[in-house]
Amino acid sequence: MTGKPTGAPLPRLAPGSTIGMLGAGQLGRMTALAAARLGYKTHVYAPDAADSPAAQVSAAATVADWDDLEALERFARSVDVVTLEWENVPVATAEHLRRFTNLNPGPNVLSVAQDRIAEKSFVNTLGIATAPWRAANSAEEVARAVAEIGPRCVLKSTRLGYDGKGQARLDSGSDPAAAWAGIGGGKPGVEGIVEGFVTFACEVSVIVARGADGTMVAYPAVENRHKDGILDVTIAPAAADKVSDRTAAEADRIARCIAEALDLVGVLAVEMFVTDDGSVLVNEMAPRPHNSGHWTMDACATCQFEQLVRAVCGLPLGSVERVADAEMTNLIGDDVLRWPDLLAEPGARLHLYGKAEARPGRKMGHVNRLFARR
Ligand code: AMP
Repeated sequence: MTGKPTGAPLPRLAPGSTIGMLGAGQLGRMTALAAARLGYKTHVYAPDAADSPAAQVSAAATVADWDDLEALERFARSVDVVTLEWENVPVATAEHLRRFTNLNPGPNVLSVAQDRIAEKSFVNTLGIATAPWRAANSAEEVARAVAEIGPRCVLKSTRLGYDGKGQARLDSGSDPAAAWAGIGGGKPGVEGIVEGFVTFACEVSVIVARGADGTMVAYPAVENRHKDGILDVTIAPAAADKVSDRTAAEADRIARCIAEALDLVGVLAVEMFVTDDGSVLVNEMAPRPHNSGHWTMDACATCQFEQLVRAVCGLPLGSVERVADAEMTNLIGDDVLRWPDLLAEPGARLHLYGKAEARPGRKMGHVNRLFARR
């Protein structure tokens, strides 16, 4: 464990305490399950909390808007600490909650992680490389950015994009105006970022947990393969012929450096591109448990969700020892219909999120398969 002590120590919350969870999706659900295993209760808060994946397994749920100050105060006063499973909780909501209770990760972390420009600027200030990028808030600015960066680019909305949503690929011959319109350019609040297209050898991520006393633990770099912009498979750890020990160590250093610079308390996932020459470029980060860390549920001494519980409850972080190698496969949309076969498959660990409707592109569950350590 490394890291200098920074923040004030959090009061140690004993089992039996209640963790407030902002957001009610599968990440909240799996955190609530990890919390329950240690004897904690979870109270979720989200506008769409009713019968949500997280509410189904939590002691309480508040269904209210992010700007409902009274509901937020009532919620904050009814729990012992607050954390989140969604980094796009409005910063004003986080600031309001902080008046009544400990909230981690805090508003400073959210404001960086909610906006691709803030995120890339922050990372670049730390001397960490990203793809070249420019802010672009009109079709003309998109055209200028492409002229500066080169014809192969990706235009993204700066906020609220995930799983490839709010993105347009550009190549020589692409129409900047069409790309700008394609990501909702011109609509209120939509801002853009143009990134140089990275021809990567593979995509990796590192998940770090950090306590209020500055201690940190990190899981090994994993390889993430995407299909249609959505994570499909995570290979844990990344194979040595794809990601050398040196590159894995660099990815680990980058993730820890960002967590420390953010003074993060909780869990941070950093997604990176690895190029053919082994360079590591940060793509994006999320200050919460991450889909590419689901393998830790079955393959590590302590999973990423338990680390979040430990960090925000002021408990010592757990061992990240890997007891097996793992492959995590997402069940997207109708993939979930394969559940009877997956249940019958020896050794496959099935996790379903309790979502009633299997819409295309919707994450319905995942399956972990374990292998002897390489
Ligand atoms: P993001 O929402 O930024 O994580 O992007 C979703 C996926 O699109 C990434 O995991 C990559 O596979 C791809 N992608 C995003 N940005 C770039 C880029 N600058 N160059 C190449 N591929 C990208």
